[in-house]
Amino acid sequence: ATPTALMVGTGRGAQLGILIKGPEVLESTRRVDTVVLDKTGTVTTGRMTLQDVYVAEGVDEGELLRLAGSLEHASEHPIAQAIAAGAIERAGSLPVPEDFENVAGLGVQGVVDGHAVLVGRDELLAMGVPPLERSREWGRAIELPRELAEAKAAAEAEGRTAVAVAWDGEARGVLTVADAVKETSAEAVAELRRLGLKPVLLTGDNQLVAESVARAVGIDEVIAEVLPQDKVDLVKRLQAEGRTVAMVGDGVNDAAALATADLGLAMGTGTDAAIEAGDLTLVRGDLRVAADAIRLSRKTLATIK
Ligand code: ADP
Ligand code: MG
Repeated sequence: ATPTALMVGTGRGAQLGILIKGPEVLESTRRVDTVVLDKTGTVTTGRMTLQDVYVAEGVDEGELLRLAGSLEHASEHPIAQAIAAGAIERAGSLPVPEDFENVAGLGVQGVVDGHAVLVGRDELLAMGVPPLERSREWGRAIELPRELAEAKAAAEAEGRTAVAVAWDGEARGVLTVADAVKETSAEAVAELRRLGLKPVLLTGDNQLVAESVARAVGIDEVIAEVLPQDKVDLVKRLQAEGRTVAMVGDGVNDAAALATADLGLAMGTGTDAAIEAGDLTLVRGDLRVAADAIRLSRKTLATIK
């Protein structure tokens, strides 16, 4: 490709709402045959809202919302924001946590009102996370009682994300949040397919939730329940199968995978970490522009042949 044609391509990209790191980026899109899409914030709006609150026997719903909401208020994760906002709405003001730690891809832990609190995936409860300064007494696995596990499974089967809440070594409840699929996602997936790309949905979220989103937008390859550090390995695995991979993502969790992919596309509405790691930024966070980007680079390269 001649430098001039690539520069023109770069300028055209800016008009379409695509920021390109350097002209050479367009060349790397040439052989892309697979497009890995992060779910939350990429295919879905990432604006979740709190739905159901299930409590274990004897647990006060208001207390559950206050303790979980307090910790989640300190996290930037879309699930956390939904829980914090819902808790304030339903239970009033939230206490400030005495201790807080984000456990990437799993949830949050901390101390609220003297209670050692966990909110997140079953794995977070099961793994018996390293105890914090103020909560040394626990660190053993916590299991969900049957009623809560059933409520959680039922919510997930309907496409909601469900997280467990535990404190002082006991599971106390389950909160569900729901996220809407972006209006443009199904069309974007169809366009990516028309360009001959195979879409793959990649998420740290539950398998059933992931499948329900995938169905809604027309994706049939789903890789779910992936820890943030493992997203990179999945991209590498696809590459090892001989596929040339574009990855679209928005989160801190996606940054390493965006950097590893043959072409990294960051949602402009996402985190700085993702934008820095990507080769391209889709300024408005519209997934359809991912297809525009591929089309543009093919056209740019074709003019040069
Ligand atoms: P995605 O890959 O879809 O962007 P993440 O890797 O960020 O999702 O999160 C994976 C899963 O970890 C979530 O679906 C949720 O179950 C759990 N999780 C992550 N952060 C939190 C949090 N702050 N509170 C509760 N659960 C969380
Ligand atoms: Mg995301």
